[in-house]
Amino acid sequence: MKTIIEPFKIKSVEPIYFTTKEERIDILKNAFYNPFLIRSNDVLIDLLTDSGTSAMSSNQWAGIMRGDESYAGSPSFFRFEETIQQITGMPLVIPTHQGRASEKILFSILGGKEKYFVSNTLFDTTRANIEFSGAEGVDFICEEGKLPSIPAPFKGNMDTDSLIKFIATKGAENIPLCIITVTNNSGGGQPVSMANIKAVKKICTENNIPLFIDACRFAENSYFIKLREDGYADKPVNEIAKELFSYADGCTMSAKKDAFANIGGFLAMHDEALALQCRNLLVITEGFPTYGGLAGRDLEAIAIGLMEVMDEHYLQYRIRSIEYLTNKLIAEGVPVMQPAGGHAVYIDAKAFLDHIPVEQYPGQALVGALYLEGGIRSVEIGSLMFGKYGEDGKLIPGQMELVRLAIPRRVYTQSHIDYVAEVIIEVFQNRKSIKGLKIIEEAPMLRHFTAKLQPVE
Ligand SMILES: *Cc1c(COP(=O)(O)O)cnc(C)c1O
Repeated sequence: MKTIIEPFKIKSVEPIYFTTKEERIDILKNAFYNPFLIRSNDVLIDLLTDSGTSAMSSNQWAGIMRGDESYAGSPSFFRFEETIQQITGMPLVIPTHQGRASEKILFSILGGKEKYFVSNTLFDTTRANIEFSGAEGVDFICEEGKLPSIPAPFKGNMDTDSLIKFIATKGAENIPLCIITVTNNSGGGQPVSMANIKAVKKICTENNIPLFIDACRFAENSYFIKLREDGYADKPVNEIAKELFSYADGCTMSAKKDAFANIGGFLAMHDEALALQCRNLLVITEGFPTYGGLAGRDLEAIAIGLMEVMDEHYLQYRIRSIEYLTNKLIAEGVPVMQPAGGHAVYIDAKAFLDHIPVEQYPGQALVGALYLEGGIRSVEIGSLMFGKYGEDGKLIPGQMELVRLAIPRRVYTQSHIDYVAEVIIEVFQNRKSIKGLKIIEEAPMLRHFTAKLQPVE
């Protein structure tokens, strides 16, 4: 097979910024070892997130010009609405300024004390919005999803046996919603199979629990289904996506992921009564229902991006580029989550830095080392992000200690990715010199965004 090439040519370029290692030592210290506190002009290759960092296409930019900024009833909204109706089969479409705004609205209505939201794995903002409402979020990831180094085709699947048991224990009436995250961002960008979605839907239906999809990466997940699940090899991705959504009662989406947009999101659903409640809140927090916190131009960019993302040349290149980096690291013995996920490479920091205890945040320590060595910005997905404190004040660690290198869509070329591999491998060879970190300041929620840390002496 020939090289899978970037399925685009470049019309407009942005500079990237070079720094020296000496400069980066100071920058990292001044940012308190937190990548979120580093200025992006001090970053060479920015793999902090794939969220809102996509390169838009010339068609999307044309859509930006076409955007109609009428307060109510803009044609841009109707194009947005129609596109989402077509993809999801859901008639009620509510625009929001980004994914978490959809979550905030949804969980303000459905959440509250003594309620449980069940999921394969809730993303951090989703969990935070659930907890902020007073409810609790509970993850039931399949066994293979807990083992970073063992490959399996659908490691994002939900553990249906545990789900059934949980429903029996807590009572279906206390579970307002089941949420399947596709692909499973916090669990390594791993896909969920159609069979699993169907099985979860059956359990939900039997217990009268609605099923929502956290659809941020629906196209990547659909492409994995095409590649890996029996019976889907010859189906076009748009049909696979449509089937995936057909099992759900609704969805939340961040258009900053699989819609190639720099901002935006939406809620879509079938339930008229719920949609009415959502729109009532929307007007207070986001805006009128035909723009929901977005400009008309954003609605256009999202509508166009949602169709572009299902192009199979794009998806082949997208999935392959993550696999390409993953395989380069595996070849050198770097412990990474296997198989490659859809949007990011996940390094198993616990194995990479096995001399650093979890209480000293090995993931965050590795994030710092990658920045120092090569100006690469990544993010910890481990105990800094998910850790809690027990009543004794001791850290209750997250399930895994991962470092995520999220690849922005259509932004970097193969040589950028080769450079990233070289830096990681070099850091791996010198890993014993890396020190753990301790927190010196933190916020009560989503602490990883603002926490300040320093090296442990
Ligand atoms: C990014 C993301 C969200 C939140 O979306 P924002 O647009 O960042 O608010 C929710 N769920 C998943 C799985 C995500 O990746």
